[in-house]
Amino acid sequence: MDNFDYQEDIEIMRIVNQHLEIVENPQPDFAYIARLVKNYLKTHCRHIIVKDVMDLPGEKSKIIPYCSKCMQRFS
Ligand SMILES: [Zn+2]
Repeated sequence: MDNFDYQEDIEIMRIVNQHLEIVENPQPDFAYIARLVKNYLKTHCRHIIVKDVMDLPGEKSKIIPYCSKCMQRFS
């Protein structure tokens, strides 16, 4: 295991991820890049898992665990 501190990178990747999700008409490569970014976040973030209650239309509300640092969902 290396000692590199990924936490600054996590902030950058979180922002990249946020931008990738709102791109209109994404280029075909974007899905691949988005997958790499999400993998990076899931692997290197020191997650702080919190739980959010989400109300889904026509369904019961659902508890969604997510990381408050990298914003990835864990369900
Ligand atoms: Zn995280």
